[in-house]
Amino acid sequence: MDPEFQRSLNRAIYEASPDGILVVNAKRIVTSHNQRFIELWQIPQKDLHGVESMTAIGSTDNVILSTVLERVQDPTPFLARVNELYANPDLNDHCEIALKNGQTLERYSTVLRSNDGQYLGRVWFFRDITAIKQTQAQLLELANHDALTGAANRRNFFDRANQEYSRAKRYGTPLSIAWMDLDHFKLVNDQHGHAAGDEVLKALYRETQPMLRESELFARIGGEEFAVLMPDTGIEGAMHLAERIRLVTEARTLDFDGQAVTCTISIGVAALKPSDTSIADCLQRADRAMYQAKQNGRNRVEIAD
Ligand code: GH3
Ligand code: MG
Ligand code: MG
Repeated sequence: MDPEFQRSLNRAIYEASPDGILVVNAKRIVTSHNQRFIELWQIPQKDLHGVESMTAIGSTDNVILSTVLERVQDPTPFLARVNELYANPDLNDHCEIALKNGQTLERYSTVLRSNDGQYLGRVWFFRDITAIKQTQAQLLELANHDALTGAANRRNFFDRANQEYSRAKRYGTPLSIAWMDLDHFKLVNDQHGHAAGDEVLKALYRETQPMLRESELFARIGGEEFAVLMPDTGIEGAMHLAERIRLVTEARTLDFDGQAVTCTISIGVAALKPSDTSIADCLQRADRAMYQAKQNGRNRVEIAD
């Protein structure tokens, strides 16, 4: 290719690229970068005194690296990896970098070699993936949570329950489940309206969530049915939490458009048994105990036998 054409092509690729591009030679001198690189990393003007104005070209990469290290969330592993990549030219790199300002950058890096295999340096590409990460997080939140209450949804609950079942089996640790269903919820809707019923569901989650440990999961299984997964908790602890949830629910009076809305809850509690062959066995016992609580008059906690 005509060298003139090659140069102009390179320049066009450089400046049209959505990626910040940095090229560093074998002596760790910056040989080129595009404007996007400066913007992405917000390299201050005071560091841009390279051979071309407003660039870092010709400077050692220390100048840039010191600014970059100020921007990244975890500078120590970042620097260690940069040094590792320079020390091992044939390593390629692809990673995500969290910045202190909340942005996420994606980095690719690869070696530059001459036709006869001589090490010439390294090229770095940086792409701002903040928006993609935020969308991913939102999608994950939507996929795993119930839109009305914000509680974990059914699928999330069963995924975690299966994981915790495996863990409990492997380490011989306890695992308990509380299965809950609001009492005469149809009446709440009939007397106060569906919107009032929704407020009861939301309040249940809002007030129960703060009672839980980090490892515990409160989920809306569907309708007015909820469950709590309690890893590392035996039947005594599970009963205690269930009773607290029952009491808080019983004590709550919601003011909805001037109407006093109350509701109680029936809860069945079960702990994993050595004879269980899947989490379904334990869930079934908790569900049966909940049904027993309904039979025995509602607003009760029953323990599975
Ligand atoms: P029980 O004590 O036997 O559980 O009686 P119940 O009336 O609670 O039981 P049932 O299963 O007959 O009724 C459940 C009701 O929950 C019916 C349904 O309209 C209501 N429901 C389900 N999902 C929602 C929701 O998202 N919002 C509201 N407001 N009501 C809901
Ligand atoms: Mg129900
Ligand atoms: Mg019900």
